[in-house]
Amino acid sequence: MEAVGQVDLAVVGGGPAGAIVAREAAAGGARVVLFERAPNAPLRCAGLISTRAAEELGVPRDLILSEIRGVTIHGPGGSEATLSAPVPKGVVIDRVGFDAYLRGRAREAGVRVMEGVSVLGWDGDVLHTPAGTFRPGILVGADGAISGVARWAGLPGPRELLVAYQAEVAARAEGSDHVEIYLGRDHAPGFFAWAIPAGETVRAGLATTDAKGGLKLLRRFLARRFPHAPIRGVSGGLIPLGPPGRTSKGGVFLVGDAAAQVKPLTGGGLYYGGVAARLLGRLIAAGNPGEYERGWREELGKEIEFGLRARRAFLLLSDGELDRLVELLRDRALSAFLAERGDMDYPSRLIPELKRSPQVWAVGLKAMAALGGLSRLHELLSA
Ligand SMILES: Cc1cc2nc3c(=O)[nH]c(=O)nc-3n(C[C@H](O)[C@H](O)[C@H](O)COP(=O)(O)OP(=O)(O)OC[C@H]3O[C@@H](n4cnc5c(N)ncnc54)[C@H](O)[C@@H]3O)c2cc1C
Repeated sequence: MEAVGQVDLAVVGGGPAGAIVAREAAAGGARVVLFERAPNAPLRCAGLISTRAAEELGVPRDLILSEIRGVTIHGPGGSEATLSAPVPKGVVIDRVGFDAYLRGRAREAGVRVMEGVSVLGWDGDVLHTPAGTFRPGILVGADGAISGVARWAGLPGPRELLVAYQAEVAARAEGSDHVEIYLGRDHAPGFFAWAIPAGETVRAGLATTDAKGGLKLLRRFLARRFPHAPIRGVSGGLIPLGPPGRTSKGGVFLVGDAAAQVKPLTGGGLYYGGVAARLLGRLIAAGNPGEYERGWREELGKEIEFGLRARRAFLLLSDGELDRLVELLRDRALSAFLAERGDMDYPSRLIPELKRSPQVWAVGLKAMAALGGLSRLHELLSA
């Protein structure tokens, strides 16, 4: 009979979330195996995270490609506003290098890292792979937006999936410390397009609800924004939004994109996935994984719900309304306030700050006027 490897924990997926869970659990003494089917996959991420996330996730300095101090927002009809903080708020990382680095850290902690091995299925007891079968006490699905583990365990998927395409553009980005955001149906229906300086290249991409038109939209964006720059590579991916009602069942746990632990307003998943992964790994090490579902929702649930509500309001805005709101961001007091106090990871924290800051109240009234009055504001807030 075929030998079955007994392990305390099997992690499917060696992206950031999987590598962090595996490392934390092994550091606490668990016997852990981690499977990553495509360790040399090309970049499918802009790699933009907050300085807080870089510190908490332990990104080494040599994997930081650029520091980000602000953003220029382009409205659909040509409006434009720039928010600049006095100090860097974010960094752009070498994402492919970071994944490899995290798997290396997991290996150092004692994880058996099986690269190039695709998990084929789980029958409720045994995990099947081309490298043999494994019987894990606990199974973690860190296998991305379309999670096989979720399917095998009968767990639901995310509420929404966006398609995303990105190109590495050989354009001069050295010294640039602002990202560009492009709003509007013409650029990226249902989300936005971006251009992010990443050292020697610019990462230009978009996410959209237009699943079929995504690649065409990217080509048009590239032709407009970088008409002469060479394109080094185009990749596509999915962004899950809205975590399902359950992310665990028996001894099976989902984490990262597999659990849609993603910021609904920006599509960023590295920080939330990392926070949840660290929690799950530590709970497994402590013999208490049953606390995970409640624990991660306590840390991130309110913020994700805020983001989902704000996203629903964003989807209702017409291109004209978006332009009028972008124009308002040119207000000096407001832009300085947002640049200084805005938090990439916890945008809801800005609301009480805004309420306490009389210098920006006047802009609130202008925003209401720009949206056509109180009833429209009410409509958006109750979306
Ligand atoms: C175009 C784009 C740009 C983005 N930009 C940003 C950004 O700037 N900042 C940010 O924070 N987030 C960004 N994101 C989101 C971010 O990339 C994800 O949130 C993050 O990668 C999630 O990490 P993860 O470990 O959960 O999953 P993943 O990184 O998707 O890793 C899952 C891994 O599981 C492996 N796998 C799957 N099935 C199996 C199997 N059966 N057997 C073995 N291995 C398997 C896959 O090969 C993969 O490596 C972006 C996403 C896209 C698509």
